[in-house]
Amino acid sequence: MSETLGPDLLLALDRQHVWHPYSPMPGQAAPLLVHSAAGVRLRIAEPGGGTHELVDGMSSWWSAIHGYNHPVLNEAARAQLDRMSHVMFGGLTHEPAVRLAARLVEITPEPLRHVFFSDSGSVSVEVAIKMCLQYWRSVGRPLKRRLLTWRGGYHGDTWQPMSVCDPDGGMHALWSGALPQQVFAQAPPSGFDAAPDPAYTAHLRETIAAHAHELAAVIVEPVVQNAGGMRFHAPAYLTALREACDEHGVLLILDEIATGFGRTGALFATEHAGVSPDVLCVGKALTGGYLSMAATLCTTRIAEGISRGDVPVLAHGPTFMANPLAAAIADASLNLLLDQDWQREIRRIETRLREGLAPAAGLPGVRDVRVLGAIGVVQLEHRLDPVAMATATRAAAREGVWLRPFGDLVYTMPPYITPDADVARICAAVLAAATAGSAADAGSPGAGPPPGA
Ligand SMILES: *Cc1c(COP(=O)(O)O)cnc(C)c1O
Repeated sequence: MSETLGPDLLLALDRQHVWHPYSPMPGQAAPLLVHSAAGVRLRIAEPGGGTHELVDGMSSWWSAIHGYNHPVLNEAARAQLDRMSHVMFGGLTHEPAVRLAARLVEITPEPLRHVFFSDSGSVSVEVAIKMCLQYWRSVGRPLKRRLLTWRGGYHGDTWQPMSVCDPDGGMHALWSGALPQQVFAQAPPSGFDAAPDPAYTAHLRETIAAHAHELAAVIVEPVVQNAGGMRFHAPAYLTALREACDEHGVLLILDEIATGFGRTGALFATEHAGVSPDVLCVGKALTGGYLSMAATLCTTRIAEGISRGDVPVLAHGPTFMANPLAAAIADASLNLLLDQDWQREIRRIETRLREGLAPAAGLPGVRDVRVLGAIGVVQLEHRLDPVAMATATRAAAREGVWLRPFGDLVYTMPPYITPDADVARICAAVLAAATAGSAADAGSPGAGPPPGA
């Protein structure tokens, strides 16, 4: 197929052959066809010809923090392409990986000193779990191999990460009998600024204490539970987890795949609590949204523990481990982030989101409006069915904005470079999507509360 394919043919072939995230095959809702993207705008090719632009409210799922087609990241990619785009990592190493690893160690909490690169967030969570289980096996505690998490979380779609996603929400409940059985604490009470609830802290401590003999690690998303419901919690619960883990001999894994690299107003969300994990996962924004790369960082205690065991190696090695092209872009993305006053940009977007989303609180069908850092969330009274979700998405597009509502949420996490005027447009689109979504939902059979409820 060397001829140019027009938008209609592309969309027809897409429908026939291409699976999309969390979708049936063939697809039911037609996706938008992106021709190109630059800055904070996606250029959409229209069926029948012509294009139009949408302001991106999603950062391509938390990743494109500097926007699209950034000259500095493009240049880093080109320079690395001319040296090599990939070499295997077994027995070989290269400057992009070494620089990036050293950089990650420098900017993450102090005791994290060793970096395992992988190709996606889910795999970095698999590696984190493997590290913890293997640590306990190596130090003679092989029965410590379960995980504890709190409800409402999301850690990826491969098998072990699924086992620590919220057991009722999302699409993973389907596998509950087949997945490893983990220990679930109640979801943390909502509110970043809410005073910590001593009863909940006690619940965390008791659950950890009761299962300590079989627990390898506690794994949670710090401060923001993202795909599990976009809920924020008080940083103090991380302090409580750290203390209980230390007291009972359990490791702590923090999953910063969504929250890392400034999104919540701190470089890593755990800094809001001043807590250092034993293992840390990063991904998504690591390469500024250019390529898939993730990393699992661990302490020397864990690395040495594993290395003392009868199998003294970490038995993991993805083919594209430490991909040089991705690593070079990641290093450039980190420079771009850290060489600017990024906190000011996050605070600016936070202020604009608070102003722009405040009116949503008065809309019918809206349960809650919340903002933290460059994350804005409107939670509806009801979960949107697929029809209402498509209606909400179209309402945002009519305002010139790309949003992807899911469940009972219309939310945004725009690129950090988004100018005020475009943040205002995004807010208007969130309001429009929330209005259209809950209206469509209320009108559809089966949605909303049962009659008389
Ligand atoms: C997206 C995400 C993952 C999974 O990352 P993938 O790159 O999609 O595999 C894991 N944990 C959190 C918190 C995430 O947001």
